[in-house]
Amino acid sequence: MVRFGRDEELSEILTVVSEILRGGVVRCPETAVEERLLSRALDLLGCRNPPCEGKSREYTLEELGFFEEISPPRLRVFNSTEELLFRNWPTPLVRLSSFSGKGVRVWAKLEFFNPFSMSVKDRVGWLMVSDLLSRNPRRGVVLYEATSTNTGMALAAMAAIKGLKAKLFLPATIQKASDTILKVMGAEVYRQPKSITVEFIDEVEELARKEGGVHLNQFENNANLKVHLRYTAKELDLQTREASLRLQGFMGGVGTSGHLSAISVYFKNRYGDHIKVYGVQPAAGSTIPGIRRVESGMKWINYAKVDRIVDVTLEEAIEHAIRVARREGIFVGLSSGAVTAAYMRLVGEDLLEEGDYVLIFPDHGFKYLEFFSSYLEGEGVH
Ligand code: PLP
Repeated sequence: MVRFGRDEELSEILTVVSEILRGGVVRCPETAVEERLLSRALDLLGCRNPPCEGKSREYTLEELGFFEEISPPRLRVFNSTEELLFRNWPTPLVRLSSFSGKGVRVWAKLEFFNPFSMSVKDRVGWLMVSDLLSRNPRRGVVLYEATSTNTGMALAAMAAIKGLKAKLFLPATIQKASDTILKVMGAEVYRQPKSITVEFIDEVEELARKEGGVHLNQFENNANLKVHLRYTAKELDLQTREASLRLQGFMGGVGTSGHLSAISVYFKNRYGDHIKVYGVQPAAGSTIPGIRRVESGMKWINYAKVDRIVDVTLEEAIEHAIRVARREGIFVGLSSGAVTAAYMRLVGEDLLEEGDYVLIFPDHGFKYLEFFSSYLEGEGVH
Protein backbone atom coordinates (compact mmCIF):
# COMPACT_ATOMS: atom_id res chain seq x y z
CA MET A 1 0.00 0.00 0.00
CA VAL A 2 2.72 2.48 0.98
CA ARG A 3 4.55 3.66 -2.11
CA PHE A 4 6.06 6.86 -0.86
CA GLY A 5 9.67 5.71 -0.65
CA ARG A 6 12.47 8.04 0.35
CA ASP A 7 13.04 10.89 -2.10
CA GLU A 8 16.75 11.55 -1.56
CA GLU A 9 16.72 14.90 -3.32
CA LEU A 10 13.78 16.21 -1.28
CA SER A 11 15.46 14.91 1.84
CA GLU A 12 18.67 16.86 1.03
CA ILE A 13 16.73 20.02 0.24
CA LEU A 14 14.75 19.73 3.48
CA THR A 15 18.01 19.35 5.42
CA VAL A 16 19.07 22.74 4.04
CA VAL A 17 15.59 24.18 4.73
CA SER A 18 15.87 23.00 8.34
CA GLU A 19 19.35 24.54 8.76
CA ILE A 20 18.11 27.87 7.38
CA LEU A 21 15.05 27.89 9.63
CA ARG A 22 17.10 26.94 12.69
CA GLY A 23 19.83 29.53 12.10
CA GLY A 24 17.61 32.27 10.67
CA VAL A 25 20.40 33.12 8.20
CA VAL A 26 21.63 32.04 4.79
CA ARG A 27 25.32 31.49 4.09
CA CYS A 28 26.80 31.73 0.62
CA PRO A 29 27.35 28.35 -1.05
CA GLU A 30 30.90 27.17 -1.76
CA THR A 31 30.30 24.53 -4.40
CA ALA A 32 27.97 24.14 -7.37
CA VAL A 33 26.13 21.31 -5.55
CA GLU A 34 25.60 23.51 -2.49
CA GLU A 35 24.42 26.32 -4.72
CA ARG A 36 21.79 24.13 -6.40
CA LEU A 37 20.50 22.77 -3.09
CA LEU A 38 20.43 26.23 -1.51
CA SER A 39 18.51 27.64 -4.42
CA ARG A 40 15.92 24.81 -4.21
CA ALA A 41 15.64 25.29 -0.43
CA LEU A 42 15.14 29.04 -0.81
CA ASP A 43 12.48 28.40 -3.43
CA LEU A 44 10.60 26.17 -0.96
CA LEU A 45 10.88 28.90 1.65
CA GLY A 46 9.99 31.79 -0.64
CA CYS A 47 13.29 33.72 -0.41
CA ARG A 48 15.52 35.36 -2.98
CA ASN A 49 18.95 33.83 -3.57
CA PRO A 50 21.65 35.75 -1.68
CA PRO A 51 23.70 38.04 -3.97
CA CYS A 52 27.01 36.71 -2.55
CA GLU A 53 29.14 39.05 -4.63
CA GLY A 54 32.36 37.19 -3.94
CA LYS A 55 32.12 37.88 -0.21
CA SER A 56 31.38 35.25 2.33
CA ARG A 57 28.80 36.78 4.53
CA GLU A 58 25.53 35.77 6.11
CA TYR A 59 22.17 37.11 5.04
CA THR A 60 19.19 37.25 7.35
CA LEU A 61 15.95 35.77 6.06
CA GLU A 62 14.35 39.21 6.13
CA GLU A 63 17.12 40.58 3.85
CA LEU A 64 16.15 37.89 1.34
CA GLY A 65 12.48 38.84 1.37
CA PHE A 66 11.25 36.02 3.63
CA PHE A 67 8.00 37.73 4.62
CA GLU A 68 7.52 39.92 1.53
CA GLU A 69 5.11 37.60 -0.28
CA ILE A 70 2.55 38.01 2.46
CA SER A 71 1.28 41.51 1.82
CA PRO A 72 -2.51 41.82 1.54
CA PRO A 73 -3.93 45.11 0.29
CA ARG A 74 -5.38 47.05 3.22
CA LEU A 75 -8.88 47.55 1.77
CA ARG A 76 -9.07 44.20 0.02
CA VAL A 77 -9.34 45.40 -3.57
CA PHE A 78 -7.97 42.90 -6.10
CA ASN A 79 -7.24 42.98 -9.81
CA SER A 80 -8.29 39.40 -10.49
CA THR A 81 -9.85 36.39 -8.80
CA GLU A 82 -6.41 34.75 -8.77
CA GLU A 83 -5.08 37.73 -6.78
CA LEU A 84 -8.11 37.43 -4.52
CA LEU A 85 -6.64 34.09 -3.54
CA PHE A 86 -2.94 34.64 -2.98
CA ARG A 87 -2.87 38.34 -2.15
CA ASN A 88 -5.60 37.99 0.46
CA TRP A 89 -3.45 35.73 2.67
CA PRO A 90 -3.14 35.33 5.64
CA THR A 91 -6.40 33.51 6.22
CA PRO A 92 -7.79 34.53 9.62
CA LEU A 93 -6.61 33.18 12.94
CA VAL A 94 -9.39 33.42 15.51
CA ARG A 95 -9.54 32.63 19.20
CA LEU A 96 -12.19 30.09 20.14
CA SER A 97 -12.99 31.35 23.62
CA SER A 98 -15.64 28.74 24.38
CA PHE A 99 -13.06 25.98 23.87
CA SER A 100 -10.34 27.74 25.88
CA GLY A 101 -9.90 27.37 29.61
CA LYS A 102 -7.62 26.36 32.52
CA GLY A 103 -4.63 28.27 31.14
CA VAL A 104 -5.05 26.77 27.65
CA ARG A 105 -6.18 29.08 24.88
CA VAL A 106 -7.16 27.70 21.52
CA TRP A 107 -7.17 29.38 18.13
CA ALA A 108 -8.41 28.26 14.73
CA LYS A 109 -6.93 29.11 11.34
CA LEU A 110 -9.91 29.40 9.04
CA GLU A 111 -9.01 28.01 5.65
CA PHE A 112 -12.58 28.36 4.41
CA PHE A 113 -11.72 32.00 3.79
CA ASN A 114 -10.04 30.86 0.57
CA PRO A 115 -12.29 31.83 -2.37
CA PHE A 116 -12.42 28.89 -4.80
CA SER A 117 -13.05 25.75 -2.77
CA MET A 118 -13.53 27.52 0.54
CA SER A 119 -10.73 25.28 1.75
CA VAL A 120 -7.02 24.85 2.39
CA LYS A 121 -6.77 23.19 -1.03
CA ASP A 122 -6.96 26.45 -2.96
CA ARG A 123 -3.37 26.95 -1.96
CA VAL A 124 -2.27 23.63 -3.42
CA GLY A 125 -4.35 23.88 -6.60
CA TRP A 126 -3.01 27.37 -7.23
CA LEU A 127 0.66 26.49 -6.85
CA MET A 128 0.44 23.18 -8.73
CA VAL A 129 -1.10 24.96 -11.73
CA SER A 130 1.18 28.01 -11.46
CA ASP A 131 4.27 25.77 -11.31
CA LEU A 132 3.01 23.74 -14.27
CA LEU A 133 2.37 26.83 -16.38
CA SER A 134 5.73 28.36 -15.47
CA ARG A 135 7.45 25.22 -16.80
CA ASN A 136 5.11 24.62 -19.71
CA PRO A 137 2.85 27.52 -20.66
CA ARG A 138 0.59 25.46 -22.95
CA ARG A 139 -3.00 26.52 -23.30
CA GLY A 140 -5.55 23.77 -23.78
CA VAL A 141 -3.84 21.37 -21.42
CA VAL A 142 -6.15 18.99 -19.52
CA LEU A 143 -5.59 18.63 -15.77
CA TYR A 144 -6.30 15.22 -14.18
CA GLU A 145 -6.73 14.73 -10.45
CA ALA A 146 -8.15 12.33 -7.86
CA THR A 147 -9.96 14.48 -5.32
CA SER A 148 -12.44 14.38 -2.49
CA THR A 149 -13.88 17.71 -3.81
CA ASN A 150 -11.72 20.53 -2.46
CA THR A 151 -8.68 20.14 -4.69
CA GLY A 152 -11.13 19.56 -7.52
CA MET A 153 -12.83 22.90 -6.89
CA ALA A 154 -9.47 24.65 -6.68
CA LEU A 155 -8.33 23.07 -9.95
CA ALA A 156 -11.63 23.78 -11.70
CA ALA A 157 -11.22 27.43 -10.65
CA MET A 158 -7.62 27.61 -11.83
CA ALA A 159 -8.59 25.89 -15.09
CA ALA A 160 -11.33 28.49 -15.63
CA ILE A 161 -8.94 31.36 -14.92
CA LYS A 162 -6.11 30.00 -17.09
CA GLY A 163 -8.18 28.61 -19.98
CA LEU A 164 -7.48 24.94 -19.21
CA LYS A 165 -9.73 21.89 -18.70
CA ALA A 166 -10.05 19.75 -15.57
CA LYS A 167 -11.00 16.05 -15.41
CA LEU A 168 -11.70 15.08 -11.83
CA PHE A 169 -12.02 11.61 -10.29
CA LEU A 170 -14.11 11.36 -7.14
CA PRO A 171 -14.32 8.47 -4.69
CA ALA A 172 -17.67 6.80 -3.91
CA THR A 173 -17.55 7.96 -0.28
CA ILE A 174 -18.02 11.65 -1.05
CA GLN A 175 -21.33 13.53 -0.84
CA LYS A 176 -23.41 13.67 -4.05
CA ALA A 177 -23.46 17.47 -4.15
CA SER A 178 -19.78 17.49 -5.14
CA ASP A 179 -20.57 16.37 -8.70
CA THR A 180 -22.91 19.32 -9.16
CA ILE A 181 -20.52 21.84 -7.63
CA LEU A 182 -17.62 20.66 -9.81
CA LYS A 183 -19.73 20.56 -12.97
CA VAL A 184 -21.02 24.08 -12.31
CA MET A 185 -17.38 25.11 -12.05
CA GLY A 186 -16.75 23.65 -15.51
CA ALA A 187 -14.95 20.38 -14.70
CA GLU A 188 -15.61 16.92 -16.11
CA VAL A 189 -16.43 14.63 -13.20
CA TYR A 190 -15.96 10.85 -12.95
CA ARG A 191 -17.15 8.92 -9.90
CA GLN A 192 -15.15 5.83 -9.06
CA PRO A 193 -16.83 3.10 -6.98
CA LYS A 194 -14.07 3.10 -4.30
CA SER A 195 -12.19 5.34 -1.88
CA ILE A 196 -8.99 7.19 -2.73
CA THR A 197 -6.17 4.67 -2.42
CA VAL A 198 -2.74 4.43 -4.00
CA GLU A 199 -4.28 2.24 -6.72
CA PHE A 200 -6.93 4.90 -7.42
CA ILE A 201 -4.22 7.55 -7.81
CA ASP A 202 -2.21 5.22 -10.09
CA GLU A 203 -5.26 4.70 -12.32
CA VAL A 204 -5.65 8.47 -12.73
CA GLU A 205 -1.93 8.72 -13.54
CA GLU A 206 -2.24 6.00 -16.17
CA LEU A 207 -5.32 7.58 -17.76
CA ALA A 208 -3.66 11.00 -17.94
CA ARG A 209 -0.63 9.43 -19.61
CA LYS A 210 -2.78 7.58 -22.14
CA GLU A 211 -4.91 10.62 -22.97
CA GLY A 212 -2.01 13.10 -23.08
CA GLY A 213 -3.15 15.12 -20.06
CA VAL A 214 -1.29 16.24 -16.96
CA HIS A 215 -1.79 14.46 -13.65
CA LEU A 216 -0.92 17.15 -11.10
CA ASN A 217 -1.04 14.66 -8.23
CA GLN A 218 -1.50 16.56 -4.98
CA PHE A 219 -0.33 13.43 -3.13
CA GLU A 220 3.23 13.65 -4.49
CA ASN A 221 3.63 17.06 -6.11
CA ASN A 222 6.07 19.04 -3.94
CA ALA A 223 4.15 22.24 -4.76
CA ASN A 224 1.83 20.99 -2.00
CA LEU A 225 4.53 21.10 0.69
CA LYS A 226 5.99 24.28 -0.80
CA VAL A 227 2.80 26.33 -0.70
CA HIS A 228 2.34 25.51 2.97
CA LEU A 229 5.97 26.30 3.86
CA ARG A 230 5.98 29.52 1.86
CA TYR A 231 2.61 30.75 2.98
CA THR A 232 0.51 28.79 5.52
CA ALA A 233 3.32 28.22 8.04
CA LYS A 234 4.81 31.67 7.53
CA GLU A 235 1.40 33.29 7.96
CA LEU A 236 0.99 31.41 11.23
CA ASP A 237 4.41 32.61 12.35
CA LEU A 238 3.49 36.24 11.67
CA GLN A 239 0.02 35.85 13.18
CA THR A 240 1.09 34.09 16.38
CA ARG A 241 3.83 36.67 16.88
CA GLU A 242 1.46 39.57 16.29
CA ALA A 243 -0.99 38.15 18.83
CA SER A 244 1.93 37.44 21.24
CA LEU A 245 0.87 33.83 21.68
CA ARG A 246 2.70 31.50 24.02
CA LEU A 247 2.66 28.89 21.31
CA GLN A 248 2.58 25.30 22.54
CA GLY A 249 1.36 23.37 19.56
CA PHE A 250 -0.66 22.73 16.43
CA MET A 251 -3.33 20.23 15.50
CA GLY A 252 -4.27 19.36 11.96
CA GLY A 253 -5.80 16.59 9.88
CA VAL A 254 -3.76 14.52 7.46
CA GLY A 255 -4.88 13.78 3.91
CA THR A 256 -1.89 14.26 1.66
CA SER A 257 -0.06 15.43 4.86
CA GLY A 258 0.97 18.65 3.05
CA HIS A 259 -0.13 21.31 5.51
CA LEU A 260 0.69 19.56 8.77
CA SER A 261 4.15 18.46 7.56
CA ALA A 262 5.03 21.98 6.44
CA ILE A 263 3.88 23.43 9.78
CA SER A 264 5.96 20.85 11.63
CA VAL A 265 9.11 21.43 9.55
CA TYR A 266 8.73 25.19 9.92
CA PHE A 267 7.90 25.54 13.61
CA LYS A 268 10.02 22.76 15.06
CA ASN A 269 13.10 24.05 13.25
CA ARG A 270 12.46 27.73 13.83
CA TYR A 271 11.32 27.52 17.45
CA GLY A 272 12.25 24.06 18.74
CA ASP A 273 10.76 20.67 19.48
CA HIS A 274 8.82 21.97 22.45
CA ILE A 275 6.25 23.13 19.88
CA LYS A 276 4.07 20.05 19.64
CA VAL A 277 2.47 18.90 16.42
CA TYR A 278 -0.55 16.58 16.61
CA GLY A 279 -1.93 14.86 13.52
CA VAL A 280 -5.53 13.71 13.25
CA GLN A 281 -6.67 10.68 11.25
CA PRO A 282 -9.95 8.75 10.97
CA ALA A 283 -10.22 5.92 13.50
CA ALA A 284 -9.89 2.44 11.95
CA GLY A 285 -13.12 1.67 10.12
CA SER A 286 -14.21 5.34 9.91
CA THR A 287 -14.17 7.50 6.79
CA ILE A 288 -13.87 11.26 7.19
CA PRO A 289 -13.77 13.25 3.93
CA GLY A 290 -10.40 14.93 3.36
CA ILE A 291 -8.36 12.94 5.87
CA ARG A 292 -6.91 9.43 5.75
CA ARG A 293 -5.05 7.01 7.97
CA VAL A 294 -1.31 7.59 7.92
CA GLU A 295 -0.59 3.93 7.12
CA SER A 296 -2.53 4.28 3.84
CA GLY A 297 0.56 6.08 2.53
CA MET A 298 1.40 9.77 2.42
CA LYS A 299 4.57 11.53 1.39
CA TRP A 300 5.68 14.51 3.44
CA ILE A 301 4.85 13.23 6.89
CA ASN A 302 7.93 11.02 6.41
CA TYR A 303 10.11 14.15 6.54
CA ALA A 304 8.38 15.85 9.45
CA LYS A 305 8.18 15.21 13.19
CA VAL A 306 4.69 14.57 14.49
CA ASP A 307 4.39 14.10 18.25
CA ARG A 308 1.21 12.07 18.21
CA ILE A 309 -1.46 10.89 15.81
CA VAL A 310 -4.96 11.02 17.28
CA ASP A 311 -7.76 8.76 15.98
CA VAL A 312 -11.23 10.27 15.62
CA THR A 313 -14.45 8.59 14.46
CA LEU A 314 -16.80 10.13 11.89
CA GLU A 315 -19.41 10.52 14.63
CA GLU A 316 -17.00 12.47 16.84
CA ALA A 317 -16.04 14.65 13.87
CA ILE A 318 -19.69 15.50 13.13
CA GLU A 319 -20.51 16.09 16.79
CA HIS A 320 -17.58 18.46 17.20
CA ALA A 321 -18.34 20.35 13.99
CA ILE A 322 -21.85 20.88 15.41
CA ARG A 323 -20.37 21.91 18.74
CA VAL A 324 -18.18 24.52 17.01
CA ALA A 325 -21.22 25.86 15.14
CA ARG A 326 -23.38 26.04 18.27
CA ARG A 327 -20.74 27.57 20.51
CA GLU A 328 -18.78 29.79 18.13
CA GLY A 329 -21.22 30.40 15.29
CA ILE A 330 -19.00 29.10 12.51
CA PHE A 331 -20.09 26.25 10.27
CA VAL A 332 -17.00 24.13 9.70
CA GLY A 333 -16.36 20.93 7.78
CA LEU A 334 -15.91 17.41 9.10
CA SER A 335 -12.11 17.43 9.23
CA SER A 336 -12.30 20.65 11.31
CA GLY A 337 -14.72 18.78 13.56
CA ALA A 338 -12.18 15.93 13.74
CA VAL A 339 -9.39 18.32 14.72
CA THR A 340 -11.61 19.84 17.43
CA ALA A 341 -12.48 16.36 18.71
CA ALA A 342 -8.76 15.51 18.91
CA TYR A 343 -8.06 18.73 20.79
CA MET A 344 -10.87 17.98 23.26
CA ARG A 345 -9.45 14.48 23.75
CA LEU A 346 -6.05 15.93 24.71
CA VAL A 347 -7.71 18.47 27.00
CA GLY A 348 -9.60 15.56 28.61
CA GLU A 349 -6.35 13.64 29.10
CA ASP A 350 -4.87 16.73 30.78
CA LEU A 351 -1.97 16.56 28.35
CA LEU A 352 -1.79 20.16 27.24
CA GLU A 353 0.68 22.65 28.72
CA GLU A 354 -0.54 26.12 29.64
CA GLY A 355 -0.39 28.41 26.64
CA ASP A 356 -1.77 28.65 23.13
CA TYR A 357 -2.73 25.93 20.66
CA VAL A 358 -3.66 26.39 17.03
CA LEU A 359 -6.14 24.16 15.22
CA ILE A 360 -6.15 24.17 11.44
CA PHE A 361 -9.74 24.19 10.16
CA PRO A 362 -9.43 23.06 6.50
CA ASP A 363 -12.88 23.91 5.20
CA HIS A 364 -16.49 24.98 5.55
CA GLY A 365 -19.47 22.81 6.48
CA PHE A 366 -21.64 23.44 3.41
CA LYS A 367 -20.23 20.48 1.47
CA TYR A 368 -21.22 18.00 4.15
CA LEU A 369 -24.93 18.69 4.46
CA GLU A 370 -25.78 15.08 3.66
CA PHE A 371 -23.68 13.90 6.63
CA PHE A 372 -25.12 16.52 8.98
CA SER A 373 -28.69 15.84 7.93
CA SER A 374 -28.43 12.05 8.42
CA TYR A 375 -26.82 12.65 11.80
CA LEU A 376 -29.49 15.13 12.91
CA GLU A 377 -32.26 12.87 11.69
CA GLY A 378 -30.79 10.06 13.75
CA GLU A 379 -30.14 7.83 10.78
CA GLY A 380 -26.60 7.15 11.87
CA VAL A 381 -23.63 8.01 9.72
CA HIS A 382 -21.69 5.87 7.32
N1 PLP B 1 -9.47 18.40 5.42
C1 PLP B 1 -10.04 18.55 4.24
C2 PLP B 1 -11.48 18.96 4.18
C3 PLP B 1 -9.32 18.33 3.09
O1 PLP B 1 -9.91 18.49 1.88
C4 PLP B 1 -7.97 17.93 3.22
C5 PLP B 1 -7.21 17.60 2.05
O2 PLP B 1 -7.74 17.28 0.99
C6 PLP B 1 -7.41 17.79 4.46
C7 PLP B 1 -8.18 18.04 5.55
C8 PLP B 1 -6.01 17.32 4.66
O3 PLP B 1 -5.04 18.24 4.24
P1 PLP B 1 -3.66 17.75 3.66
O4 PLP B 1 -3.92 17.17 2.32
O5 PLP B 1 -2.81 18.99 3.62
O6 PLP B 1 -3.12 16.72 4.59
